[in-house]
Amino acid sequence: MVTNLSAQYSVLCDWITEIRDQTTQQDSLRFRHNLERIAEVAAYEISKRLAYTDGQVTTPLGTAAGKTLTAQPVLATILRAGIPMLSGLGRIFDQAGQAFVGAYRKHRPDGSFEIHLDYVSCPPLEGQILILADPMLATGASLVKALHALHGQGTPAEIHVVAAIAATPGIETLQTAYPKASLWAGDVDPVLNDRGYIIPGLGDAGDLAYGPKTSG
Ligand code: URA
Repeated sequence: MVTNLSAQYSVLCDWITEIRDQTTQQDSLRFRHNLERIAEVAAYEISKRLAYTDGQVTTPLGTAAGKTLTAQPVLATILRAGIPMLSGLGRIFDQAGQAFVGAYRKHRPDGSFEIHLDYVSCPPLEGQILILADPMLATGASLVKALHALHGQGTPAEIHVVAAIAATPGIETLQTAYPKASLWAGDVDPVLNDRGYIIPGLGDAGDLAYGPKTSG
């Protein structure tokens, strides 16, 4: 299931436009803030699909019916570009455990690249609802590698992937590897360039959020 959160007009469309805009991108704090609130909206939409337990809550003036989330999800991201989106997810699911995967592209001289994973930290995942933030779902290679690595910690009952921008090739990679996963995308773009960047996309999300790097 793929949900394009820009399919309906909302203020989220404004935030997606800002993260793409090369002028607004000069403000890295605003860039990170927009990624955070895009993830918050996605988390809220995901929350509508989760299970709730009916109960009661005591107010200062009486008793009210209350519904509580039956189980907190496990939140995850891929370092480093995913950190702002993980923060956004964590503000909505504020009791959730969090998982981290370190992954980077190792480029070859011909422009192709392979994904290296160097770090995985994850709470128990067996039977849990996993929500993984990957801001730029491009080829899908790092996402699928990260999901494989997380499966080493247990098989989740449900997988939700949250992307700010998802490209059609990455969506296809996810659907082939994890056909039952749900994708929540801020917007969907059609193609990649020969270096695996999303077109029109927004550029390098990690660099825009945290500044250019010297390696990886
Ligand atoms: N990662 C990015 O930051 N941007 C892309 O376009 C693809 C992967």
